[in-house]
Amino acid sequence: MGKKIFEKIKIKKKFAEKKFAKNWKKNKIGKMSDFEFRRRHTASHILAAAVKMIFPEILRGAGPATDAGFFQDFDFVGVKISSDDFKKIEKKMRWIANKNFRVVQKFLNLRDAEKFFKNKKFKLEILHDLENSGEKKFSFFDFVDDSGKIFYRDLCAGPHLLSTGEVGVFKLMKISAAFFRGDETREILTRIFGVAFSEKKFLDEFLQNLEEAKKRDHRKLGRELDLFCFSEKVGPGLPLFSPRGTFILETLKKKVEKICRKFGFQKISTPHFAKIDLYKISGHAEKFSGELFKVDGHYKTKYCVKPVQCPHHTQIFASKMRSHKDLPIRYMESEKQYRDEKPGQIGGLGRVIAITVEDGHIFCTPEQIEIECKNLVKIIREFYDSLGMWGNHWVSLSTRDKKNFKKYIGKKSDWEKAEKFLEKICVDEKLDAKKMPGEAALYGPKIDFMFRDAIGNERQLATIQLDFATPQRFELEYIDKNGEKKIPVMIHRAILGSYERFLAILIEHFAGNFPLFLSPTQLAILPITKKHENFAQKILEKIQKSGGRAEIFSADETLGKRILNFQKQKIPLAAILGDAEISENFLSIRARGSKKMQKFSLEKLIEKLTKN
Ligand SMILES: [Zn+2]
Ligand SMILES: [Zn+2]
Repeated sequence: MGKKIFEKIKIKKKFAEKKFAKNWKKNKIGKMSDFEFRRRHTASHILAAAVKMIFPEILRGAGPATDAGFFQDFDFVGVKISSDDFKKIEKKMRWIANKNFRVVQKFLNLRDAEKFFKNKKFKLEILHDLENSGEKKFSFFDFVDDSGKIFYRDLCAGPHLLSTGEVGVFKLMKISAAFFRGDETREILTRIFGVAFSEKKFLDEFLQNLEEAKKRDHRKLGRELDLFCFSEKVGPGLPLFSPRGTFILETLKKKVEKICRKFGFQKISTPHFAKIDLYKISGHAEKFSGELFKVDGHYKTKYCVKPVQCPHHTQIFASKMRSHKDLPIRYMESEKQYRDEKPGQIGGLGRVIAITVEDGHIFCTPEQIEIECKNLVKIIREFYDSLGMWGNHWVSLSTRDKKNFKKYIGKKSDWEKAEKFLEKICVDEKLDAKKMPGEAALYGPKIDFMFRDAIGNERQLATIQLDFATPQRFELEYIDKNGEKKIPVMIHRAILGSYERFLAILIEHFAGNFPLFLSPTQLAILPITKKHENFAQKILEKIQKSGGRAEIFSADETLGKRILNFQKQKIPLAAILGDAEISENFLSIRARGSKKMQKFSLEKLIEKLTKN
């Protein structure tokens, strides 16, 4: 038996288990084991087997388990299928599950494997790739019945359940096109997605979450709340923010800036493009080669639009001689940067070509890493606290692979010090960080913050990354206490990532019900009849002069219709103005989602609107 393939399977298994462990935290359901991963993988084989029962001529592509479920790629060789066929396929899948076939691993040599896949071009290609990577024995998984007869067989590294009966409840979710091996130049296959759970109640919970997610979809709410739009004439991936969306973005920017300034950050401003040489030095020209927008000037210089800001920032640091007394130097910038994303991957605000990155860099001595990173944690905490999101998160600490230090950039002693500092910060700040050995970037260790939104989606938002490499590449220096030249450490920090993505996340997290300080319109003023409109106008002016944001919903429409409208626009508060309010000088305030009225004086209301 090939030892190598066993090693490979072991590594793949370990990877699967690790990936499952990583995903488990966000998975509120199930037990911490790799069982769920196996369930999804076996379900994908059951799907392939079921489809093959109905359409014997199909060709199979890949069919892995994913974070959320599983999929299988097929070439239906001319047969048109749609989600209408799901019932039929699910019925066969149920039959396979009920048969409780044992799932058994077998190893075949090349000749037998080739014979098995005769005329199956996709599988043969994968097989030959494995062969070219040096494999002699090929791992297969079989569904075997009680008499030992093989019902279904596929090339696969596993891991799987022990039998198809363990698969639990499953449901096919959608059908789409997918390139073979994700390669746009290859055949277009049909991909069927599904989900699998231990019990029906988890499937129900999943489907309910999905419905909720649809309602909260930022593309849908972004349009309904008039926050942003796209124009075919401008181009895909280039969002245009309306006044309301821009208000939210600017408010977030001010919030981040205000908190960061408390910890010594200074704002800088750099151009949207630079000579390509800058990115050659930083390594981004190579790293982002397919995503760089190149710009030819009229006068020979070759430019490229900035994919990141870090290299620009190094040049402000390098603009004069720095002493250890100048350090740390903390820069921040919220400018756009641009990446030429694949058309198929652009969608909503999640992935765009023009990205406003909330970026920041600290240049410091190795001794200053601890206090600087501690302050960054404080900044991140304060920012997410202000949104009520602190607590819905977990933290990972990525360190180097100690057995393989050669692949990292930087001095071993600096790495050791930095990792110790980061670990200490995680303990001191009670971050309960999950240690991820071997997950550090090549240029330094990092702390990532994963936030979970209201419906359980998890996204990596904040990050603190140490970088020993960039200062070296750009030959940055400072003069230390002894008058010697030293290389500073660079810390990259992101509080919320890109504003576009963050806005999408916030829309979905709050379902458009933004907190008062982020709401473009905080108050809808509803005069009961036309004769109350003059008074409404006066109230509006007073609120605007004090910095609040209100809008009059004119009495041209019925009060009932206007209340409905105010709720649809998800405005946090409405003031209803009638005779009583005018003569007794108070406001009747109704909060979003509530039917209760509350009495407010104008002063008290303004105080509420202008807080933060
Ligand atoms: Zn498989
Ligand atoms: Zn950076």
